[in-house]
Amino acid sequence: MNTESLSPALKKTNKGHELDSLFKPRSIAIIGASSKDLSIGNVIIKNLVHYNFTGKIYPINPKEPEIRGIKAYPTIFDVPDDIDLAHVIIPSKFVPQIIEDCGKKGIKSVIINSAGFSEMGEEGMALQEAFLAKAKEYGVRIFGPNCQGIINADPEFNAYCDFTFTFPKPGAVSIVALSGGVGAFIMQSLFDLDIGMRLYASNGNACDVSISEVVKYYGEDEGTKAIILYTEGFREPKDFIEAANLVAKKKPILAMKSGRTEAGAKAAASHTGSLAGVDISTELIFEKTGILSFSNEEDLCQAAMAFSTQPIPKGNRVGIITNTGGPAVIAADELVSSGLQIPALSDKALQLLRAGLLPEASVGNPIDVVATGSGAHFRIALDVLMDEETIDSIFVNFVTAPFTDTDEVARQIVEVSKRQRKPIICNFMTNLSMERFRVTAQLLKDGGVPCYSFPTTAAKAMGALYKFHKIQTRNIGEAKKFSVIDKVKAEKIIAAYSSSSDEGRFLPSPFVYDLLTAYGIPVADWRLAANTNDAVKAAEEIGFPVVIKAEASDLVHKSDLGGVAINIKTAAEVKIAVEAMKEKFVKGELKFFIQKFMPGGKELIIGVSGKPDLGHLIMFGMGGIYVEVLKDVVFKLAPVTELEATEMLASIKSAKLLDGVRGQKGIHKASVIEIIQRISQLVCDFPQIKEMDLNPLMAFENKTIVVDARIKI
Ligand code: ADP
Ligand code: MG
Repeated sequence: MNTESLSPALKKTNKGHELDSLFKPRSIAIIGASSKDLSIGNVIIKNLVHYNFTGKIYPINPKEPEIRGIKAYPTIFDVPDDIDLAHVIIPSKFVPQIIEDCGKKGIKSVIINSAGFSEMGEEGMALQEAFLAKAKEYGVRIFGPNCQGIINADPEFNAYCDFTFTFPKPGAVSIVALSGGVGAFIMQSLFDLDIGMRLYASNGNACDVSISEVVKYYGEDEGTKAIILYTEGFREPKDFIEAANLVAKKKPILAMKSGRTEAGAKAAASHTGSLAGVDISTELIFEKTGILSFSNEEDLCQAAMAFSTQPIPKGNRVGIITNTGGPAVIAADELVSSGLQIPALSDKALQLLRAGLLPEASVGNPIDVVATGSGAHFRIALDVLMDEETIDSIFVNFVTAPFTDTDEVARQIVEVSKRQRKPIICNFMTNLSMERFRVTAQLLKDGGVPCYSFPTTAAKAMGALYKFHKIQTRNIGEAKKFSVIDKVKAEKIIAAYSSSSDEGRFLPSPFVYDLLTAYGIPVADWRLAANTNDAVKAAEEIGFPVVIKAEASDLVHKSDLGGVAINIKTAAEVKIAVEAMKEKFVKGELKFFIQKFMPGGKELIIGVSGKPDLGHLIMFGMGGIYVEVLKDVVFKLAPVTELEATEMLASIKSAKLLDGVRGQKGIHKASVIEIIQRISQLVCDFPQIKEMDLNPLMAFENKTIVVDARIKI
């Protein structure tokens, strides 16, 4: 490569986005360039050259006059030119000084490949802080440290600032991955699937340029059609939510977070109280911001193939064209389970098909053009479906029958696909060891038709396109602000219980119920009694039957310990229950919580778990004894809107029970939906609430009432 003969256009400095110096460098210095073949300082230069980097390469090495045939300089100050980006591949202890030098030289971005920083404990952390301070002082952006780097596959740049070994062809999918290992194998998978890539970023320790910032940058990058994201959680979740909110509806973000299945299982198995250590937050962030979440990397890459070339469908109605029966049936099953429909075609469409296809063709949806169907027959079917108003996307099931001109079939599919009117997905069944069919396959791939080798895989990709349509059209709305609440009273309660000695303890019941009442959440009528006589008086005031609960600090699972007596009908029964509890519990602080008995409701649970830097997770599900048995709960990230609360009720496994089954009455859903939103407002107003468990709420045909609650501040 000739670094001396750059066009003036390439020499112009980067204006525009701050990260352009990182992703669109015109000149790169490799600080720690090495003539040793297998060193990172050598491989990066080799990769830049191999990938035909369009800018200038400046190896920096105090001893070598040249590296890989490129003139080297002792220091960056000896380089007679501006430098956009520097790679730093030197021992960590020298990095702070080098960052200062970079600042003085006017370098805007630095990729620190070296390790030995925050991942190495205190000493490394100190070094990281030292170079960050220098970076800040000089306005240098740091990518890494302990990272791979970036790649820009746009032929205008061909910037391979990375030491990996996959050289992607230019395309429209951009990747951001915290883990270099995962990033690299996703890049390799796209390569294997013949999917082009655009930008790549793997930022290791991510001490400065964050995943959120890269996502935002990709969002603004015109050439990026879809984004692949891999992370192990977010250090600053709120920044990420903000970035994802800006990008995710505009461009599909296909994401995967490791450990989700295990985490999900754990979360479902736990009470809200023991949720704290379980990380399902990332999943909820994905859901809230409209990120397509994948449970495995293969589905993700396969879906990326569809997103990289196909438009997003406008609805869920699929037309299927096939030249063989069985695989279309398999595909149809998967399509339907992804929420897609395979509607009947109009009379006009059927007429056109009958007139144009072979007599043995099966006319309907699926359209079976039969194995002897030619390119022309496929074309007729494709055109009919493209014009059919009740069809949003087209699934082609194409087996390379040896007695047809398969290339012609491919050409017809490509031609129609290129018009980008409706998405086309192709399940392409062939023998790629035969030259003839390899040509057909290449025609499809070069033509941008996403080809899959299993009907289910193809159908899943179609499902992903449709899911993105749903994300784009889903409007969760704003969280409601209930105005008739007593925030001042709530503030007083929380302040009264916020001294450090109370930290991590449960609020006494009277506080809990007052707090709920202040936020308009209906609770069963209650009194607190100190002794037997008061208990009888309280029960009479409330009206029999009542429930008596032992009240003592940190008494959590009352009924397990005999601390709950239900359906108390007389003063005599009150006395018996109270005396029995006095036997069981420490007398000193024992009080009695007398509550209206509310029999016959369905027991529900609403829970809250506070997450540092993120806010609260809100849980809803079947409550009471059912929590442990059914583990039937769902989560959302606060603030929860009305639509989201409604979705929560609909998405538990036993959603149908809420409607009433086998003669039972259904519950009053609107009141539950309202309570979820009021709880959401309460925890958003008071972030210091750490944990909350309303279990159970008694849900009736006409109302829902809280009968047990605990709150930790
Ligand atoms: P804990 O959860 O501490 O064991 P609860 O107050 O939730 O104690 O009571 C346990 C069970 O008793 C509830 O799940 C519910 O079935 C029943 N129960 C409690 N209070 C009432 C009430 N006011 N009306 C009807 N049933 C109640
Ligand atoms: Mg309970």
